[in-house]
Amino acid sequence: MVSSWDLRKEVVDCARRLALLGFMPSTSGNLSVRLDPRRVLITPSGLPKSALQPGQLDVIDLEGDCLECGLKPTSELGLHLAAYRLRPDVMAAVHAHPPAATAFACAGVELPADIASEVVAALKSIPLTSFFMPGSKLTDPEMPADLREALQTRDAMLLSNHGALTLGNSLAIAFQNMELLEHYAKICLGVFQLGRQKRLSPQEVAALIDLGGKYRRG
Ligand SMILES: [Zn+2]
Repeated sequence: MVSSWDLRKEVVDCARRLALLGFMPSTSGNLSVRLDPRRVLITPSGLPKSALQPGQLDVIDLEGDCLECGLKPTSELGLHLAAYRLRPDVMAAVHAHPPAATAFACAGVELPADIASEVVAALKSIPLTSFFMPGSKLTDPEMPADLREALQTRDAMLLSNHGALTLGNSLAIAFQNMELLEHYAKICLGVFQLGRQKRLSPQEVAALIDLGGKYRRG
């Protein structure tokens, strides 16, 4: 069984990799892992992710109450907790501002859901959710309906005028999903520059989603 100290080291390592990729500039971005059904390990606010230390992570419960908090938890706590409350299968969440994906989120342009087979198989589609104020608690009255739907059904999403969120059944998968999301956003910029899109048929999209599901189960 993985100890909570091992998980802390994994979060710190992942945060450094995301910072090196340029996905979490300055003190932005945050990540978390589920310790058990009621507790979450999460990054603190106001620190550059490249310098994060395992002992600086906070432990909170699903209501957002601090159980072990040396530093103030990330202001995007509400977003992480909403994902864990809505999806018992989610074990990790990464919120970042990767530049190409964030450009789409700030332009209000959706990423096409039917042009790249690998992305369809891995993520189905990547919704662009409505704007909400950073730091929102995202409890029921504050939760945009499309964000709720995205959290319940997708592992990657764009947050309007803000950035991106990915989920996974492990931190490694949530990280990979963020990497894939940004890579796909760059591909879409190229596709849009070329001025045409060769779309997959609805049957091909359905077959790819089915194929991805088999890999995810395996
Ligand atoms: Zn953010």
